[in-house]
Amino acid sequence: MDWDVLIAGGGPAGMTAAIYSARAGWKTVVIDPLGGGGQASTTDVIHNYPGFPSGVSGAGLMDLMTEQAKSFGAAIEFDVVTGIARDGAGFTVKCESLMRTARAIIYAAGTSPKKLGVPGEEKFTGRGISFCATCDGALFKDKVVAVAGGGDSALTEAEFLTRFAGVVLIIHRRDEFRAGLAAIRRVTQNPKVRMLMSTAVQEVCGEDKVASIIVKDLKSGRTSEVQVDGLFLYVGSTPNVAPVKDLVDVAESGYVETDDDMSTRTPGLFVAGDIREKSLRQVATAVGDGATAAWSAERYLLESALSVHTGVPR
Ligand code: NAP
Repeated sequence: MDWDVLIAGGGPAGMTAAIYSARAGWKTVVIDPLGGGGQASTTDVIHNYPGFPSGVSGAGLMDLMTEQAKSFGAAIEFDVVTGIARDGAGFTVKCESLMRTARAIIYAAGTSPKKLGVPGEEKFTGRGISFCATCDGALFKDKVVAVAGGGDSALTEAEFLTRFAGVVLIIHRRDEFRAGLAAIRRVTQNPKVRMLMSTAVQEVCGEDKVASIIVKDLKSGRTSEVQVDGLFLYVGSTPNVAPVKDLVDVAESGYVETDDDMSTRTPGLFVAGDIREKSLRQVATAVGDGATAAWSAERYLLESALSVHTGVPR
């Protein structure tokens, strides 16, 4: 076997699992398309991660977690896990560029942003439509941008966009937000933010780039055209379950069911972070999942007595 513990996904859950696992002396690798970071690294400032009373940059926090995992000997490899299968006493992990084997797996591959599924969405993605305010917000200095969605991501990122844009229009399909009160308070107090509630984006229009959107008032049924320079989509996420779907139980919601110790119905396969069926998806809860998954993987390795321990736990 190549690895004692292979961790798919280098967000807060995966990197925390790597810190714990490598520090305990297990031969540990993190496989991540971008070498780590996850969605947390696209968040400008995280206000509710304990220990940072003035907030902490998402990218900065993830860089530190990655550095910490590496300092304990975890390997970080750029790749995409596409399939995981039981293979004797361990697992075979198919990735885009390499096949790897491991004794235990911690699957922390998170979620991918959902799309609206409206005309113009595909055409204008990257040409005015964005899923990442931190990456693209600065392109919209003094412009009008719309943000679709009513959850924490939509409101947090809408607030971030007010640093650049002249007007930020939040478009939400219901008449109340899903986001927590703190985020709601911040956007409603921001003079650059306007809101279109009970409204759905129906189409994105333009020539080469976004010029306007067609929106529908879901109460009156009226449609209208709104001139915007950009549209940021924060309408939720789809869990990346495909590589493990035959090895785990998937809840009706599409997220993976685990026990409290992050175990699944496949011994040796643990699932952590946002991809789990759970009530609160935050960096703080992902970190807890990652630590628990690493502890459970260690217990599994010791109990199955199949591992090659790389040294005395530090
Ligand atoms: P989310 O909580 O699932 O919210 C998605 C939003 O998009 C909802 O308001 C939903 O509307 C709307 N939506 C879904 N499908 C839609 C469609 N087809 N058309 C229009 N609107 C649609 O997703 P999220 O905001 O990305 O947050 C994900 C998780 O991360 C949550 O647990 C959240 O608390 C957490 N998070 C926390 C923070 C923080 O605490 N700082 C920041 C970001 C994310 P409905 O409300 O009508 O369903």
